[in-house]
Amino acid sequence: MRSELGNEITKLRRAGITPGLAVVLVGDNPASQVYVRMKGKACDEAGLYHETIKLPTDTSEADLMALLERLNANPEIHGILVQLPLPRQIDSNRALHRIDPRKDVDGFHPENVGKVVVGDPTGFRPATPYGVQQLLIRTGVDTKGADAVVVGRSNVVGRPMAALLLQDGPGGNATVTVCHSRTRHIEQHTRQADILIVAIGKPEFVTGDMVKPGAVVIDVGVNRVDDPSRKQGYRLVGDVKFQEAKQVASAITPVPGGVGPMTITMLLYNTVQAARQWARG
Ligand code: NAP
Repeated sequence: MRSELGNEITKLRRAGITPGLAVVLVGDNPASQVYVRMKGKACDEAGLYHETIKLPTDTSEADLMALLERLNANPEIHGILVQLPLPRQIDSNRALHRIDPRKDVDGFHPENVGKVVVGDPTGFRPATPYGVQQLLIRTGVDTKGADAVVVGRSNVVGRPMAALLLQDGPGGNATVTVCHSRTRHIEQHTRQADILIVAIGKPEFVTGDMVKPGAVVIDVGVNRVDDPSRKQGYRLVGDVKFQEAKQVASAITPVPGGVGPMTITMLLYNTVQAARQWARG
């Protein structure tokens, strides 16, 4: 997918358009710093222009809004991403809603949320569920008529994931169940899933006995658990107990290395889509 994108970027550059992404990082959250670095590196590799703007933890909401307005007006920038979480003094929704929807490559602005729900392809699909859908399509998993169970209902992953699986088209037409923290007997739902997508942020919550034999399991979770045997003192695990679930599933994504790289790839796709749509006016 990255090489496909490279060809698309070359074409756009020949037409005089270099897709540009601005990443805004407020504060010094260590995980956010890693994510932002990875996004910048991916932009460099793909030939996208990018700027990372780092602001101190005590940045006021007004100052962030002023920056977003400048980026909205900057013709070199086609995509704007505000890395979450934001410090307490800033209302995340207000900040995300200030981004011009045409530059909202994270797909969190209500205009894009609405477009995704109604299946308008000019809307930006949030990168993580978009990446999961592409994983399914490109590995030949037929979603049509499948029982898909999404565990987690966040605006970042679970809800848009359900919307994409419901759409009429490739990677859609599934029968979708969404589970969350108030769902009773969650294992009864997960065991029905032909496609099980888990995004809850609870280390190894889904065990092998919660998976239907032959199911496709997509593990979105990224959790740090203590591991004194590692140099950094921790390791990353998903929301699924990988060793158990892989005995039962027909296919499963690892953590790290599964959904994470797809998320970054789809962010690049969205930035290219933004540049293309911007050029068309
Ligand atoms: P979030 O905003 O914290 O949402 C978690 C969701 O899981 C909520 O809907 C919550 O239900 C539900 N939940 C929590 N505990 C549950 C339980 N015991 N049983 C059933 N549902 C439960 O998290 P998020 O942003 O969606 O992220 C989820 C995970 O994915 C995290 O580990 C995050 O790091 C990871 N992630 C990975 C990527 C990537 O690129 N790989 C991208 C984004 C997120 P309620 O709504 O009822 O509270």
